[in-house]
Amino acid sequence: MKKDIASLGDIGLYAEKSKSNQKLLVKPKPLTVSAVFDAFKTIAMMTGNQVQSKKVDKIKSLITSSSPIESRFIMRSLAGKMRIGLGEKSLLQALTQAYLIFKDESNAKLVGSDKFKEKLAKKSLLLQTAYCECPNYDKIIPTLMEHGLENLSKFCFLTPGIPLKPMLAHPTKGVQDVLERLEGAKFTCEYKYDGERAQIHLNDDKDTYIYSRNQENNTEKYPDIVKLIHEIVSPNVTNFILDCEAVAFDVSTKQILPFQVLSTRKRKNVDESEITVRVCLFAFDLLYLNSESLVTKDLSERRELLRQSFNEVEGKFMLATSKDLSDVDAIQEFLEESIKSKCEGLMIKTLHDDATYEIAKRSRKWLKLKKDYLEGVGDTLDLVPIGAYLGKGKRTGVYGGFLLACYDEESEEFQSICKIGTGFTDEDLSSLSASLKESLVAKPKSYFLFDDSLNPDVWFEPSQVWEVKCADLSISPVHRAGVGLLDDTKGISLRFPRFIKLREDKKPEDATTASQVVDMYRNQESVKSGDGGAEAAGTAGSKEDENDYY
Ligand code: AMP
Repeated sequence: MKKDIASLGDIGLYAEKSKSNQKLLVKPKPLTVSAVFDAFKTIAMMTGNQVQSKKVDKIKSLITSSSPIESRFIMRSLAGKMRIGLGEKSLLQALTQAYLIFKDESNAKLVGSDKFKEKLAKKSLLLQTAYCECPNYDKIIPTLMEHGLENLSKFCFLTPGIPLKPMLAHPTKGVQDVLERLEGAKFTCEYKYDGERAQIHLNDDKDTYIYSRNQENNTEKYPDIVKLIHEIVSPNVTNFILDCEAVAFDVSTKQILPFQVLSTRKRKNVDESEITVRVCLFAFDLLYLNSESLVTKDLSERRELLRQSFNEVEGKFMLATSKDLSDVDAIQEFLEESIKSKCEGLMIKTLHDDATYEIAKRSRKWLKLKKDYLEGVGDTLDLVPIGAYLGKGKRTGVYGGFLLACYDEESEEFQSICKIGTGFTDEDLSSLSASLKESLVAKPKSYFLFDDSLNPDVWFEPSQVWEVKCADLSISPVHRAGVGLLDDTKGISLRFPRFIKLREDKKPEDATTASQVVDMYRNQESVKSGDGGAEAAGTAGSKEDENDYY
């Protein structure tokens, strides 16, 4: 079976094919959408003894009742590999369009016109905001039909226990770049901790939930944090949503430990008595307090409420170290201090002007200033391995090099950006090679964009995100990142890419986007000053720096 699945490149197609060959004596009852959804939900919530076999039973009964084509989509959904080429953004846009036509049929004739596009953009932001605060179509769509788009925010809002999309940060190239972007606005600089985002919710019943950057429920992973919450809240606090970074912490030396240490913690069924890696929470924002949403308040106000509502416990719960600075030298000094304290750099956030908690739009109000900018490109990139080259020499038996791609949100394609073979330890190579083997496919996916000359030995279904550093970005005749944005046929590639770490908290669709790659390319000093845009010769980021291991 495994062999057949690998050669078909899709577990769904395999299920469909097997189903077509099966003769049934009795035709099963037709599946309904809600029954399938309920079964998926039951599978997702199953825990405890023999959970694996219970899940298998549930899947078996779904497949038994399905037609061949239904089994294709059921299997793909279960494997998290639907990839029908429709992202969340397009879905929300389509929903807005459907709503506008439902409200006023004459809108149907305007679709495609500039006036309609403008209206659609404005209205879909309302829907996106509601979706970010309350990501639940079961609630949003009936509310939309009954109360209208304008009233959505009155019914679909932040609720402790429902994770919201976190505010993200924008990369910068240095202190000067930060000052230019913020144009005189007052801001604060906070340490940028290198751990895992933790969105902590407490509801009226005093239940605690901890969610990851991707809204995954991490509560089971952190029984120590669940216990801690009750120690740190002030008596007047009844419910809240708090934004923090959970960081591995050495209690005896009172030192922050690297992210790699945190990633060794168990994820499921963690018993507090077996925890060896201690975490300290560094809180940096408060989004909801005592039944009131704070996302439309300025950071200065949110921060004040955060300080009033929680009590620090050394080594367990601390407020992010911050300073409200404006002077270049002082920021530079604080950046160096943050790195000495084992942080990744600084987060710079506006305090009063344009300082709400922005979730639906990609915000420029939070800027990140990482130490990496000192050594080249302002930030690292998060990229997806889509292919690999078999290792040679010392790397025989594992993959020696990989083909990486960025994600284009518009076309929903993965576009090749570089080959990489540097920065890996031997352990990295063997563990990455082993985990990628699970995602092998016989041929490249239809949504990969690459040049045939890259010719990897194997292809992967997008499944992982890697953080990568590079010397600079250049226009490439071979790679396709951002193709069409700067040049009709050429894309952008990374020079001297180097593997930093696996980003376990990111999905392939959360990788650096094609337009971010283009922004990074344009922001390079050499490009800004007009002497850049140097074309990389041949395959960019290629063998000379890879020691010929692939
Ligand atoms: P990046 O993942 O490199 O884009 O950086 C953004 C991430 O930094 C956030 O998602 C948080 O997990 C993390 N982070 C660490 N310290 C802070 C802070 N003081 N404010 C906001 N985010 C922070």
